[in-house]
Amino acid sequence: MTQSNNYKIGTNVIHAGQAADKNTGAVIVPISLSTTFLQPSPGVLHSEYDYSRSGNPTRKAFEECIAACENAKYALSFASGLATLTTITHLLKSDDEVISIDDVYGGTRRYFTRVASNFGLKFSFVDLSTLDDLKNAFTDKTKLVWIETPTNPLLKVADIKAVADFVHSRGAILVVDNTFMSPYFQNPLDLGADIVMHSVTKYINGHSDCVMGVLATNNDELFAKLKFLQNSIGAVPSPFDCFLAIRGLKTLHVRMEAHQKNAFAICNFLEKHPKVERVIYPGLPSHPQHELCKRQMKGFGGMVVFFVKGSIDQSRSFLENIKLFALAESLGGVESLIELPSVMTHASVPAEERAKLGISDTLIRLSVGIEDINDLLADISQALDKC
Ligand SMILES: *Cc1c(COP(=O)(O)O)cnc(C)c1O
Repeated sequence: MTQSNNYKIGTNVIHAGQAADKNTGAVIVPISLSTTFLQPSPGVLHSEYDYSRSGNPTRKAFEECIAACENAKYALSFASGLATLTTITHLLKSDDEVISIDDVYGGTRRYFTRVASNFGLKFSFVDLSTLDDLKNAFTDKTKLVWIETPTNPLLKVADIKAVADFVHSRGAILVVDNTFMSPYFQNPLDLGADIVMHSVTKYINGHSDCVMGVLATNNDELFAKLKFLQNSIGAVPSPFDCFLAIRGLKTLHVRMEAHQKNAFAICNFLEKHPKVERVIYPGLPSHPQHELCKRQMKGFGGMVVFFVKGSIDQSRSFLENIKLFALAESLGGVESLIELPSVMTHASVPAEERAKLGISDTLIRLSVGIEDINDLLADISQALDKC
């Protein structure tokens, strides 16, 4: 459990969980590779650690830091975002039902529908721009509601507080995947969520060099169960990855401000461009849920989605000609990335479902990095000229 403190997140990312090493005075958290820990007498522990799957000092430093950033009592980290999802899903038992937001991360949908469904869990996917579909889908067997907000790739927003109030009134728990916003721009536990989770791979680590996941909660009972599952399932991160994530996290506040500043500049450019049909970004007044975004988020992040005019020929030509934006999946790193969800990240979503969600072949997703904005704009401009 973390000591609650009154520091702001820009201080916590640098200090929380990271007191100087007691033995050496090292200011930076050491990479603690030992898998096992000395017991002075059988069953008597030298420290709180006995075996590194169960607990590890480098991992603990990272978890305490995330807990502080999400205003949580507890955090637990995992080998990936999906390992975090898998462990959370193990809170359930066969015959339980889960309701998920519809344009959820593709890997989350794949795990739900093609893995966990083999173990007797049932899943349904609903639009959460209002509560109507959630209320209709809810049954007495619904135990967990999984949302992502803003969603991927359409940046639809769910009202976390309203969803939490309803889910609690029916005795279920709410999990929010907060990967897109990071703890800097959104804190779902403050809005009533029971568990918040992140793919650390994205903004938290921020440098596209480590795959990892984390969850945080204020609920003592859920924490005890999840801690037991973390040790029992064993999908834990390596101490080296924990070190990288701690190092990346130290600049979260600076990076997120820079991502957002560049994202706004790119949106303003795209919105005026004759070859662009529509731009989606939570920070734009044209976002259909802009008021809700302003209410529940502290900022709008670095993910921008736009539709080019034309067909797949235009989007393909744009993506082939853009230079600085790397054509690649993933997001949240300091470098700008670009992708075509219908062919890349969301290719596994059936075409019919993609059409229903609005993921067309002209929808382009940008993970806006923190490079010099003039270079990014010049690159977009030259690539648009060619399509
Ligand atoms: C990447 C991502 C995940 C999965 O995380 P991994 O670290 O790749 O396992 C989950 N949710 C969202 C929103 C993501 O972007």
